[in-house]
Amino acid sequence: MGKIKASEAVVQLFENWGINHIYGIPGDSINTMVEALRKEESKIKFYTVRHEEVASLAAAAYSKLTGKIGVCLAIGGPGAIHLLNGMYDAKMDHVPMLVLVGHIPARLTGTDYFQEVNTVELFKDVAVYNKDITSAESFPAVVNQAIRTAYQKRGVAVLSIPDDIVLGEISDNIPQLATVFEKKTPGLVQSDLDDAVRLINSANNPVILAGVGAKSAKKELKAFAERISAPVAVTLPGKGSLSDDHPNFIGNIGKIGTKPAYEAMKSADLLIMIGTDYPYAAYLPEGAKCVQIDIDPVKIGKRYSVTVGVVGDAAEALSYLTDHTTPVADRPFLKTCQNKMSTWWKWMSEDQDNKKTPIAPEALMAGIESISEEDTIYSVDVGTSTVWSTRYLKVSEKQDFIVSAWLGTMGCGLPGAIAAKQAFPDRQAIAITGDGAFAMVMQDFVTAVTYKMPIIVVVLNNKQLAFIKYEQQSAGQLKYAVDFGDIDYAKFAEACGGVGYRVEKYEDLQPALEKAKASEVPVILDVVVDVDAAPLPGKIVMDEAKGYARFTAKSIAENHKLEKMPPMKTVVRRFL
Ligand code: FAD
Repeated sequence: MGKIKASEAVVQLFENWGINHIYGIPGDSINTMVEALRKEESKIKFYTVRHEEVASLAAAAYSKLTGKIGVCLAIGGPGAIHLLNGMYDAKMDHVPMLVLVGHIPARLTGTDYFQEVNTVELFKDVAVYNKDITSAESFPAVVNQAIRTAYQKRGVAVLSIPDDIVLGEISDNIPQLATVFEKKTPGLVQSDLDDAVRLINSANNPVILAGVGAKSAKKELKAFAERISAPVAVTLPGKGSLSDDHPNFIGNIGKIGTKPAYEAMKSADLLIMIGTDYPYAAYLPEGAKCVQIDIDPVKIGKRYSVTVGVVGDAAEALSYLTDHTTPVADRPFLKTCQNKMSTWWKWMSEDQDNKKTPIAPEALMAGIESISEEDTIYSVDVGTSTVWSTRYLKVSEKQDFIVSAWLGTMGCGLPGAIAAKQAFPDRQAIAITGDGAFAMVMQDFVTAVTYKMPIIVVVLNNKQLAFIKYEQQSAGQLKYAVDFGDIDYAKFAEACGGVGYRVEKYEDLQPALEKAKASEVPVILDVVVDVDAAPLPGKIVMDEAKGYARFTAKSIAENHKLEKMPPMKTVVRRFL
């Protein structure tokens, strides 16, 4: 029997699990692990990023796109702390992640040593598995458990690794190198399915709400919606579960959503929730019956009073329901929704037809769509960029649309595009981000350049935290602390070795987009957008209207000026 370094055994284990890359920054307390990775660099590629936060955000995005575990690495102390944001993104959007952080030598633990941070304590809230490595012998077994737990619990597994321990040698005959893993999926309960069929058959106005959990059941969702002729609304991360141009599609719900989806919810007599934990109860029907399908029993009835809960995989449940519900060819409720939707799309295309300078974000979205490909991956950031992208981009089932949905962290757009290009080198990857969000992670544009990942980054540049401005205004407050100075992101792109186009006039937009599409190196399109473009809700409710009225009155009283208001036509259309 031979001997092998514990770190090398673990790298072998990663390969067995199909891990072929790691995002991170090496250093002091994790260098032994990195040395073992170096020896296997042809099998596990190390992507050196410029800030650890980008490593963890990219790992989370990789997992959202592929379903496979995302892996990131950093030194202990400051590096570990920088990883936190992406770790919470993975936790809150329920995707598996493995985090390797260094640790001071075990013999010095507790001596207030340089960079000594109690990482197990630090990661207690974010991790589903969180261990210090305490012996070379147990290291592979602990790694194995970490990966299994991350997959099963769809969360973050963290290992704090003292550099001296993993230098230790262990037997090369390690039983734990086996990676057989059976993910537990609950089986469907027949009586629940029967109850669901009965409810669906007796509903007049059923409306489907599809969440991110329905994305693994796109084909089944389409077949089911068509079978019972029901309108389909989607959550923000559920965008793409049914193509936006499908005749049953009624858009997103919530502030970011459409007016037809809001109205359909209000007149529904049956809500069919599929793979969603949608949190904003005010946008759901009042007092309708409800069938909820979710793989996680804890989610059944969590947000809405559920009549029938179906615990299980969405694809399996929907196949059953499609086969056993009564087909409905014509449903007046769907017809009404479709009529409203055609008016909605007409309004949207009027907005997008805006050829003015400064450029309307709506027109920019039309431009982006015009250069997108059949299987484009959109990595959308948090801010007004979320609203414009969600509302105006027509996403198909073959495309992907990812965002930091629950944590809502700014700065997720660029790391998501990097992960997209790395996971799917042949697909177009477009990051859509505001200047506030992009500036938080922009240094890692050079990572895309270094690794020859021809992503397109579209920066909506308005020198402002516009989403916060509209939050302030709709709460009746005055704009404060949301303006910042300009950066020429096109020049920055060139400085990094990429390509940059600064677009200030409408007529320059399309040519720049075409050049970005054709580029073989990463591109930043720095688009100066209208600072007054208002990301109004699809349906303006009374509270928001009152907030705006308070803001206007306050602005006149305190600033002696009438602030520029959103176009009255749009306000009236979305309010009435
Ligand atoms: P999750 O909460 O992640 O739920 C997914 C569910 O699917 C889980 O319960 C899971 O158990 C289940 N599941 C997973 N796999 C399967 C499977 N195979 N079969 C069955 N079930 C499965 N969201 C909106 O919808 N509208 C908005 O207006 C909105 N505004 C936002 C604005 C900003 C700026 C940001 C950052 C976010 C916004 N969000 C909005 C996102 C919002 O915060 C929530 O993250 C989102 O609504 C949750 O969507 P979900 O229910 O699809 O996802």
